[in-house]
Amino acid sequence: MRRYMSGRRARLWRGLCLAATLTFAVHPGVGSAAAEASYPVKSITMIVPFAAGGPTDVVARIVADSMSVTLGQPIIIENVVGSGGTTAVIRAKRSPPDGYTVVMGHMGTHGAAVALNPHLAYDPMRDFEPIGLVTNMPVLILARKRLDANTLGEFIELMRSRGESLNMAHAGVGSVSYATCLLLNSIVGTRPRMTAFQGTAPAMTALVEGRVDYMCDQAASVVPQIAAGTVKAYAVGTASRNLVLPDVPTSIEAGTAAFQASAWNALFVPKGTPKPVIASLNSALGKALDDDTVRSQLLRLGSEIPAPPERTPQSLAELVKSEIAKWTAAIRPANSEN
Ligand code: ASP
Repeated sequence: MRRYMSGRRARLWRGLCLAATLTFAVHPGVGSAAAEASYPVKSITMIVPFAAGGPTDVVARIVADSMSVTLGQPIIIENVVGSGGTTAVIRAKRSPPDGYTVVMGHMGTHGAAVALNPHLAYDPMRDFEPIGLVTNMPVLILARKRLDANTLGEFIELMRSRGESLNMAHAGVGSVSYATCLLLNSIVGTRPRMTAFQGTAPAMTALVEGRVDYMCDQAASVVPQIAAGTVKAYAVGTASRNLVLPDVPTSIEAGTAAFQASAWNALFVPKGTPKPVIASLNSALGKALDDDTVRSQLLRLGSEIPAPPERTPQSLAELVKSEIAKWTAAIRPANSEN
């Protein structure tokens, strides 16, 4: 009888141990207060949905350097390219919700992509926890240096007269460059040829080399090119001129007020990530955005740095919701024309 009881107990004990091990293996760190309290205990991967050297990548590397000092662990940047940034976001969505995979999303991946892809395999609001807004960055209308138009007005004339022969560069359906130039094309009423790249870094190389005619890109890639005189900048899509590009007119000044385009970058983690982990990441991000070196690096790229009230997860959740609504209204009609 004694032997029978102890055998049963032993089996029960083995069963409980196995269940506990499986729970831990499926969601390491999740549900474990000790793991959350000591977060992070190993390196963090920050997924960048576009090619190295582009605006998203540059912004990610600047804040990751500072955040890794605060968090006491390396942050490894992983460029996961393809499908206008959506491949990377799907990968992030499927990662364990433990704070060790973070994605640098933006106005395209977590806003316009919803309108651009009717079968998008993620929902920016349902599948992600917002960490915080990183930057706001104006979008500019750019052309190759030798294109036969020197002002936005002349360029729009050119688009109207022979838009079908122009070649527009973009970073894939879901990207900022695609969504914002789609808006421009629909304002003008033209359908150019389009060439997709894995980010605006390779698209910019093609523009500088004259292999494509125009694109819409975030200020970060543009500032050094404008300074070097390798591309033309017709207008910036914000209400006022950018501090580091004082000679570039706004779209309002240049006569096309309907082109309003500003992009933001923000950090997200998969849904289900524990609150204390989100709080640690948010506070490391806030510390980065208050750091003088980080601020001057971001400002030099034409970024605007969000003020503390705009940096909360709640404020980012509201931004994502309003941006999905805004770009859905702007893009669905433009997309159906193309
Ligand atoms: N900003 C992206 C990049 O970093 C491209 C895009 O969204 O247009 O390359």
